[in-house]
Amino acid sequence: MTAETEALGRCTECGQVYAVYRTTESWRALGTDGDCRCGNAEFEILSDRD
Ligand SMILES: [Zn+2]
Repeated sequence: MTAETEALGRCTECGQVYAVYRTTESWRALGTDGDCRCGNAEFEILSDRD
């Protein structure tokens, strides 16, 4: 699977900001297993570079 658009996403639970990439279903964080370290998997997109 390849990463598509990169953007900045803020965790909706703890506020941590990650570089994120879009999959077909959701945004996933780079540098983790895809979820925030707090366990949340929802990100508010701050800047979309497309
Ligand atoms: Zn979090």
